[in-house]
Amino acid sequence: MTQIEAARKGSITQQMVEVAEDEGFTPEEVRDLVATGEVVIPRNLHHEFRAIGVGRRLRTKINANIGASNFHQLIEEEIEKLYTAVRFGADSVMDLSTGEDLDRIRAELLSRSPVMLGTVPIYQVASERSIMQLEAEGFLDVIDRQARQGVDFMTLHCGVTRETVGRLRGHQRVTGIVSRGGALLAAWIERTGGENPLYAHFDEVCAILREHDVTLSLGDGLRPGATGDASDRGQIAELLTLGELTQRARAAGVQVMIEGPGHVPLDQIEANVLLEKRVCAGAPFYVLGPLTCDVAPGYDHITGAIGGAIAAAAGTDFLCYITPAEHLRLPDVDDVREGVIATRIAAHSGDLVKGVRGAKAWNDQMSRYRKDLNWEGMYALAMDPDKARRYKEESEAAGSNVCSMCGSLCSVNIDNAALKFARRRTLQAPPVEAHAAQ
Ligand code: SF4
Repeated sequence: MTQIEAARKGSITQQMVEVAEDEGFTPEEVRDLVATGEVVIPRNLHHEFRAIGVGRRLRTKINANIGASNFHQLIEEEIEKLYTAVRFGADSVMDLSTGEDLDRIRAELLSRSPVMLGTVPIYQVASERSIMQLEAEGFLDVIDRQARQGVDFMTLHCGVTRETVGRLRGHQRVTGIVSRGGALLAAWIERTGGENPLYAHFDEVCAILREHDVTLSLGDGLRPGATGDASDRGQIAELLTLGELTQRARAAGVQVMIEGPGHVPLDQIEANVLLEKRVCAGAPFYVLGPLTCDVAPGYDHITGAIGGAIAAAAGTDFLCYITPAEHLRLPDVDDVREGVIATRIAAHSGDLVKGVRGAKAWNDQMSRYRKDLNWEGMYALAMDPDKARRYKEESEAAGSNVCSMCGSLCSVNIDNAALKFARRRTLQAPPVEAHAAQ
């Protein structure tokens, strides 16, 4: 039985208990959110780790994409990226490996991953066959293989159909199709005239996912790859299809989340979130970035974090990181760390205004440590404690209670001293009544 099936029957699973403990809810509250599909718990029956929930009222989760490519294939490096992502706070990693030996790479990562692990099965299908052989059997075989291995969620571009691709091609786009899965499927549809096998065989796909409780992450294969393409007909047509598929998957006992763009200007992000929640019946929204401008290669973890914060504040549940390597190369270990930290900042900024439990308490405690010039306390609560300590301790103010920014003019120190003085004077002053009597 999957998490959503158990919840609908009124049962509370061990995974619901774990999510409730970590998020400050009762197990009953988590069960009810899972039953409606507003929260998913992506955890394959064959993958042992402490369950993580994604969805409404929960902490915004973040994902780090890792994985080898056919240009660069070193399993040791991917394992190091996994450990780095987890160490800096990723709730999930996606193995986006392409090239050879994909089953082995995934097995190595799964056996070490203490967080959710996701994949995009079409990468393996396309790595093992030519583009003209994207037949249903190939998809079902790869999905089944990965599900048996323990993959917790899979991105499947079921909404790239003859109709949605036709709508996309009906108008001019700046960057066309930028999703790898979307581009492969659209090319296959346009060359063969056939229907996307993931759409045509959706019930069979759901049956495999249900058997292993793999969460379906409905991919946005037609997402905009330029801010000028955001919220266009192709993107919205695909979203409408994903809304219909959400209902079918839930009816089949499969947990579902929805993937979203991509490149979106600031003034369209909130509308994208509201539309997804409405069209997809409250399904958790999982967005890539979104990047709010197109001109910062080398710094796209920042453009992604700006969009991610707005998206999280508007109700997005899951942010996929962007690294400084975006658009340029496969990320290395340092890029992974930078991307995870930037995305955590975005997620936490959103959580502060969404009222997520514990977010404000963390923030406020850091502020109190700052007021007290309690450096050990600040390091302990920092997202990157090592970097915070290194910056202070390698400066000219190492060991001082102030930092080298303002030195002896440290406003916090001056104000603390002034407050201390004022308090002492208040204690020493005669009571007001004594003044009045004189
Ligand atoms: S020296 Fe300036 S920056 Fe550093 S702790 Fe004091 S007020 Fe803050």
